[in-house]
Amino acid sequence: MPWCEPCERFWNPVSITQAGECPTCGSPVEAAPEAAPEAAPAPKVPWHFWIGLVAAAAYLGWRAIQGIALLF
Ligand SMILES: [Zn+2]
Repeated sequence: MPWCEPCERFWNPVSITQAGECPTCGSPVEAAPEAAPEAAPAPKVPWHFWIGLVAAAAYLGWRAIQGIALLF
């Protein structure tokens, strides 16, 4: 966000003039470096999530085997 020192306020990049000047006082405003994006590119899945997933799959598989065995 461009910051105007004399006015002590942030300007929307589309609000400042083409020359990069404050529309109120006309002094050049600094385009502060953009903040790093908040969201990480890919949220990492914790390792214990996979253990739970494998345990759930094994349990459901075992219950499926039991269910099929009950038919005979
Ligand atoms: Zn200003």
